[in-house]
Amino acid sequence: MYIDSHSHPQFPQYDQDREEMITRTLQRGVKMICVGTDLEMSKKAVELAEGQEGIWASVGLHPNDNLDEVLDIEEYRKLLVHPKVVAVGEVGLDYFRTTGEENIFKQKDRFIKFLELSRESGKPLILHCREAYQDMLEMISSAGTLFGGSAVRGVLHSFTSTWEVAQKFIDLGFYIGLNGIITFPPSRKATEGQAPSSLDEVIKNIPLDKLLLETDAPYLSPIPHRGKRNESSYIEFVAQKIAQMKGESVEKVAEETTKNTKKLFGI
Ligand SMILES: [Zn+2]
Repeated sequence: MYIDSHSHPQFPQYDQDREEMITRTLQRGVKMICVGTDLEMSKKAVELAEGQEGIWASVGLHPNDNLDEVLDIEEYRKLLVHPKVVAVGEVGLDYFRTTGEENIFKQKDRFIKFLELSRESGKPLILHCREAYQDMLEMISSAGTLFGGSAVRGVLHSFTSTWEVAQKFIDLGFYIGLNGIITFPPSRKATEGQAPSSLDEVIKNIPLDKLLLETDAPYLSPIPHRGKRNESSYIEFVAQKIAQMKGESVEKVAEETTKNTKKLFGI
């Protein structure tokens, strides 16, 4: 059994066959966290989770998916009260796709509001981060001081950086989320802004109790489905790759990572 800790079944890519895709996925023993990327997609995530066992929702505004949305944190606060909403995300910083000082300021301003919301609600963060690891580490490590109480917790999703960076997040109590990118050949991984071998090093070194599996569907289909629309049921290919590289059984990887996902999101 798996829980896909990061997918977007509410996205328009599934408008033609959403029901079928979800039924097929659940029948294969794969449950999912349906992650919001802006207010509209967060509302849709809640709707989907509300009517379906085996799906939970997360609400948040992605750092650069919808730059036009004027953040109304009250709207997200209202959604967070729903019992099927288990996390704040995906939120974070992305300096790869959006550059320029004004945008970076805007991203930080959005992010800090969601950090506060996570602290206040006690619901963990699903973080998106690209080429902004230093700023993100500083912001999450100071969140406890800023908003009181203990530090924030959560998962750094779609991780593509080095083991050194991963360790810093783990030290702050965060999990690392890996997806189909790990099945891609080294040249593709290198274009994600890192040395080809560094993700392999992350997989080899990371303890299983710090790892979450995800698909980021409809994006990032793992080999052998690369280039086509992704879905949560393909999570097994991510697990297989990790098992193979760590010299563990797939069952063990599935069991341990599912346990982590349940623990983090309280499900
Ligand atoms: Zn995503």
